[in-house]
Amino acid sequence: MHCPQAVKAAAFFLLPIFSTAAELSGQNALAYTGKLVSFGARPAGSENARKMQAYIAAELKKFGCQVIEDGFQARTPAGMVAMKNIIARFPGKNGKALAVTGHYDTKRFKEFTFVGANDGGSSGGLLLELARAMQGRPHNSDIYIVWFDGEEAFAEWTATDSLYGSRHLAGKWSADGTINRLQALINIDMIGDKDLRLEDELLSSESLRRMVEQIASQLGYARYFSGRSVAVEDDHAPFLRKGVRAIDLIDFDYGPSNSWWHTSQDTMDKLSAGSLQVTGTIVLEMLKRLDQ
Ligand SMILES: [Zn+2]
Repeated sequence: MHCPQAVKAAAFFLLPIFSTAAELSGQNALAYTGKLVSFGARPAGSENARKMQAYIAAELKKFGCQVIEDGFQARTPAGMVAMKNIIARFPGKNGKALAVTGHYDTKRFKEFTFVGANDGGSSGGLLLELARAMQGRPHNSDIYIVWFDGEEAFAEWTATDSLYGSRHLAGKWSADGTINRLQALINIDMIGDKDLRLEDELLSSESLRRMVEQIASQLGYARYFSGRSVAVEDDHAPFLRKGVRAIDLIDFDYGPSNSWWHTSQDTMDKLSAGSLQVTGTIVLEMLKRLDQ
């Protein structure tokens, strides 16, 4: 029997599914990455980096978040360099905070030809798409999305020549108390590779590694994981050292024997929207579970 009443009830029941939250789009994340790469080599302190920063800040203004430009001077082997982290804050209501972070600088090479599509580009681009997808999405904690400057070493990677932006922000958030509200930090790096294989990163907090493992299994994403357990010092490290629960989502095998890493081979044609979609979906699922 045809029953209009039931149809109406079903339609009403379905309504909340069409929420105002924007869906995460890997295609958008890839387009944002392409836009960042179009500025050329983007090492910390360069003119190209400043143009990219202005672009990101302008985009963020469309997303209804607070935009904080965190400028600072860094002592590097090349002298004092003006750097800037960009922070998008989506205010919550429970006094707690969660952060999603990644770097947007590219490693400085003499020839100034390294455009870092995957290394610097993919993290910067996916963070923009995550910020867009946060619009209208219900959450209890403050959500911070952070573009770190100066992740790359100017010379050889050492404790003082690397992670300039994340070391600066970990210090600043310690001083102003934000770090005490921070429940977890999720860092993303080199997550655009067409052949996405995320590592089980060993410095990362055990509870977050287990959470990612569970999410991967529940979403059928096991094939996007390398099965390797490797330690990678990345922008999550300064926060781990201050006792923050943190994880690095990274695919540290880029091209045959990692041969595209830090070379002119790191270009847009090596990336895929699908890989960005997978990583972005994992990040949003983690935020949902952590947002208590
Ligand atoms: Zn790098």
